[in-house]
Amino acid sequence: YYPDSRSISYSTLTRFPPVKLLSPEKRKRILVTGGAGFVGSHLVDRLMLLGHEVTVLDNFFTGSKTTVGHWVGHPNFELVRHDVVEPYMTECDQIYHLACPASPPHYQFNAVKTVKTSFMGTLNMLGLAKRTKARFLITSTSEVYGDPEVHPQHEEYWGNVNPIGPRACYDEGKRVAETLTYGYHRQDGVDVRVARIFNTYGNTYPVMNPFDGRVVSNFIMQALRGEDMTVYGDGSQTRSFQYIHDLVDGLIALMNSDETRPVNIGSSDEFTIGEFALLVRDIVEKVQKEDGTAPARRVQVIYKPLPTNDPQKRRADTTRAKQVLEWQPRWTVRMGVEEMVRYYKAKMAEGSI
Ligand code: NAD
Ligand code: UDP
Ligand code: UDP
Repeated sequence: YYPDSRSISYSTLTRFPPVKLLSPEKRKRILVTGGAGFVGSHLVDRLMLLGHEVTVLDNFFTGSKTTVGHWVGHPNFELVRHDVVEPYMTECDQIYHLACPASPPHYQFNAVKTVKTSFMGTLNMLGLAKRTKARFLITSTSEVYGDPEVHPQHEEYWGNVNPIGPRACYDEGKRVAETLTYGYHRQDGVDVRVARIFNTYGNTYPVMNPFDGRVVSNFIMQALRGEDMTVYGDGSQTRSFQYIHDLVDGLIALMNSDETRPVNIGSSDEFTIGEFALLVRDIVEKVQKEDGTAPARRVQVIYKPLPTNDPQKRRADTTRAKQVLEWQPRWTVRMGVEEMVRYYKAKMAEGSI
């Protein structure tokens, strides 16, 4: 007995990756805002493969139709161009609210729009959750801790954010989005989940965005092209990097858990940015040696000014995620970066980037 026979029609089976066939009580109608972005497109892939019905809302500011294009036409999938700053009506069971640019050059491009997206977008999606009684998950960020005085950062820490600096549109936007989320939770009984995501890296399939501006793709692209690798400041600032597949596991686990408090989802494997540049160079060189494409001149690390308010230290304390979600990262940085390097290299070789 196949509960949704539309998914086993000949044309569906031959055009799309095979999705699970869920019974109607298990199959959820899931709205993913920002679903055409980096994290969103990976989340959409996983939710589709799990057999759910997925609607993506995206205004394609930093995302692109191509990242989810392989699902267009599938009976379980819908792609809607919509700006979450405007109200939106639909019926659904779960909302993953991701819509918001996340790379510093992107979110600083139009600071006012970033704040509007965080505030009005989250307000609208919470209004939708209230009306439909859908469960609502927001992707908040480690940026709510700002330039932290507590290390590593646990969820009870209130943060140290400059409210008027160049990063404020993103940091304060997410902080007010969390405030709204708990406002709706307390006042209207909306069922909420809050993920505080730490630095995440990975490919965007099938067409990737190598010009995202965040550090991992910058370093890999520079090293592969034989350009100097740009470390901002003296490289002593730290970050912990998680691979996209671990994040998607964590988001789905959180959505389906009973935890309404914020939960950090990230890696606790901390590097200085200077060390990280050398690690990326090492991995790129290893891959190039294997296929005999090592350049004559070794790529150099050069230093550029440190952006204003760049957090000095950041590492996720993931005790809560381990306890309540039984989740922990499975990918080491070496494994994830190597996978990413191979993918970028293949795309460069075929001329698509
Ligand atoms: P991204 O920029 O690749 O994706 C964001 C998506 O939201 C894009 O598809 C963009 O077009 C869409 N979007 C932006 N403004 C919108 C609007 N007003 N209406 C509709 N769609 C809009 O970024 P990402 O890395 O995929 O981040 C996704 C979410 O995860 C964001 O909420 C971000 O704050 C959060 N997050 C990401 C990281 C990370 O390291 N990737 C870390 C912390 C938090
Ligand atoms: N909203 C939405 N979709 C819905 C329900 C509400 O976009 O399905 C928007 C609504 O337009 C409003 C916001 O969500 O701007 C907050 O809704 P709520 O019902 O909490 O507030 P009110 O409409 O009473 O101001
Ligand atoms: N960074 C860098 N070189 C780059 C891009 C970023 O040294 O080409 C640094 C940046 O200053 C920050 C860290 O790498 O200290 C992570 O930057 P990213 O923009 O990826 O994310 P952030 O954690 O700052 O939001």
